[in-house]
Amino acid sequence: MSVARAGKAVCPYCGVGCVLTSTVEGNAVKRIRADPADAPNFGMMCPKGALAGEVFSDPDRLTRPLIRREKGGPLEPATWEQAIVRVADALAEAPADRVAWYGSGQLDTEASYAFTKLFKGLLGCNHTDTNSRLCMSSAVAGYTQAFGSDGPPGCYADIEEADTFLILGANMAANHPVLFNRVRRRRVVEPDARIVVVDPRRTRTAAHADHHLAVAPGGDVPLLRFLARALVDAGEIDAAAFAAATDGGAAWLDRLAAEDPDDLARRSGVPRAQLDAAAETLFGGRKLMSLYCMGANQSAQGTLKNRELIHLSLLLGQLGRPGCGPFSLTGQPNAMGGREVGYLAHQLPGYRLVAESADREAMERFWGTVRGSISPEPGRAAVEMFKAAAAGATDVLWVACTNPVASLPDAERTREALRRTPLVVVQDVTAASETVAYADVVLPACQWGEKAGTMTNSERLVVRSDRFLEAPGACRPDWWIVASVGHAIEERRGDAAGRFAWASHEDVWDEFRRTTTGRPCDLAGMTNERLRAGPLQWPCPDPGHPGTARRYAGGRVLTASSKPRTAGETQETAARSAAICDAADAAFPLVLTTGRVASQWHSRTKTRHVAVLDAQEGGPFFEVHPDDAAAAGVTHGDRAAVVGRRGRAEATVRVSDEARPGCVFSPFHWADSAGPLANVNQLTSDAVDPASQQPELKACAVRIEKVEEAR
Ligand code: SF4
Repeated sequence: MSVARAGKAVCPYCGVGCVLTSTVEGNAVKRIRADPADAPNFGMMCPKGALAGEVFSDPDRLTRPLIRREKGGPLEPATWEQAIVRVADALAEAPADRVAWYGSGQLDTEASYAFTKLFKGLLGCNHTDTNSRLCMSSAVAGYTQAFGSDGPPGCYADIEEADTFLILGANMAANHPVLFNRVRRRRVVEPDARIVVVDPRRTRTAAHADHHLAVAPGGDVPLLRFLARALVDAGEIDAAAFAAATDGGAAWLDRLAAEDPDDLARRSGVPRAQLDAAAETLFGGRKLMSLYCMGANQSAQGTLKNRELIHLSLLLGQLGRPGCGPFSLTGQPNAMGGREVGYLAHQLPGYRLVAESADREAMERFWGTVRGSISPEPGRAAVEMFKAAAAGATDVLWVACTNPVASLPDAERTREALRRTPLVVVQDVTAASETVAYADVVLPACQWGEKAGTMTNSERLVVRSDRFLEAPGACRPDWWIVASVGHAIEERRGDAAGRFAWASHEDVWDEFRRTTTGRPCDLAGMTNERLRAGPLQWPCPDPGHPGTARRYAGGRVLTASSKPRTAGETQETAARSAAICDAADAAFPLVLTTGRVASQWHSRTKTRHVAVLDAQEGGPFFEVHPDDAAAAGVTHGDRAAVVGRRGRAEATVRVSDEARPGCVFSPFHWADSAGPLANVNQLTSDAVDPASQQPELKACAVRIEKVEEAR
């Protein structure tokens, strides 16, 4: 296959999904630029994107398959045939309930579909989940409960039409910088545009806000209900119209009316006067766009936080209108695409559900598997999957394109899960992932630029990436690796169906897009030819369709009644009691919240090799308010331990009045390879939201100790 001298590809980092143009000389990227004509970034990129070419000189790059003959032995070079046979034999011999796949929102859609077909279709195993569970599953549950379908109603272009931005639990300036530039630009064009930021920390995003509401951990739901109540009390809402336009709206308004605004303010942790002032920005028919991310989602009440954000748009009667609506920001470049192929434990392709018999039968027919071969039971979601493996319930665990040792809560249990599972398969591009150390089989994959493939960004925009570099050594595209294992299992079974006989990623895409015909995420009109010519937004049901920027025109959604649903009393009550599952007490008086910094990406497997980026923060740190630092007897620059109910981590203290008193912030990027106590997920809680199964990574009880005392 020939290699182009320049190519366009989706940035390998965040869910903004910027398209970058790389100029190539020899087999190296010489320059990366953003073309003003390319959606969605129109000439903009951030430093991570501009420096994304440096990841190709990763000294830890995996370039050939590796096999460990026995647990504890060395990883030794192997051929692809040996590696594939080892994995295929293990998967074919193990009971379907004792195998699992844990993937990533950084895999392209073709690979995500191939994994879903292999596990749910061929093996009859629904234990497939991904790091999207840590990232977006509360947004999935929130959208699905309210609208009858996953996927955001609006698009990035709504930013240019909005009057008010409610940014909750999202440090966009650091983590979605190109999109935040559009928010800032909107303020230049429209000086009356307002920004309200809800975040315990005074982040770089909060520094641009008209109102920064430093919410207490666990205080988001009462804060959002306060804003809703303020709208109603100000006479801004047509209650009869709201009740008529929603399912459950009248009862929801009754419960809202029973809330005491002072009590809501107290529970939010924000002074009433600040809340009153922020609420006024919602008045007067202003177009509200809410933008939210991990602070909303990574919570034991994450689904209800999403629902309360959606309620605000419903109250204002703004669903489906330009410049309005709830918009969940995805963390990774293809978290949306993974949801479309149904890679989470409860899903099937095309936003189908394993629990729905008609959905299972449709996919069994499509895949040519016997009726009843897809299990009706949702598989184990991420936290449950690793709990089960740690308890000895798993024979084969295949991890692809993610680093659970660094990113899952309660890191020591993740390590135990990997130690205890007889065959751990790790498919990745770099040995810099801490998870590779636990692998029995290592499968070296191509990274961005070395493969062509398709991704969907936060606004449902589907973008095809070019291949413009030769991959090193024996690296292969992810979809090829999965297809090879699937083919080997079929051969072993004497099954001549050839379900994995794809010759290229375009074959995989063609098959996948047909699974979405007539579904909410209808991509059937996105032929390879059209995607080669440029991106398209779904729904796009036929090859002549232009794509869809906004869904739910007129407020009509995909529930049975076509009306949006409001949250129920039971859900509100349950969420209230679960405000924080791992609460502070006398022994652990502070609340730890984890997050990201602008210069790093996830567990640093890429950014650690980019010197300019890696130098910016200098290493892991704990950001703490001056009062809490004084109480703990630590000062700026000290080495300190943060100790919680599950473990401890050590880092440098940063004393800052940007921290909320009582809260400690730590980035989660640094893990075991940065030091034995660098992994902050040794502390985090595995409590999960009951609807989304998303873990509460944003709040766990800790105390700070001087390292000398700790030792
Ligand atoms: Fe990449 Fe996100 Fe930066 Fe765009 S904003 S260049 S997608 S990291």
